[in-house]
Amino acid sequence: MTDPITKVPCPTCKTLVPWAPKSTYRPFCSKRCQLIDLGEWASEEKRIAGAPDMSDGDGWSEDQ
Ligand SMILES: [Zn+2]
Repeated sequence: MTDPITKVPCPTCKTLVPWAPKSTYRPFCSKRCQLIDLGEWASEEKRIAGAPDMSDGDGWSEDQ
């Protein structure tokens, strides 16, 4: 007997995802992986971890 549930590898993390209605984000294993694939998660991370603006220290000297 073969397994009646087809499993597909998540395009992002390769986790096997059951191809079933309960797998809301198939072929992705989760919403997170779906967002990573779309590039949205990555851009959001950059916004959160954005480096502080270093360009305003040009005229400032530390040996005072
Ligand atoms: Zn995944």
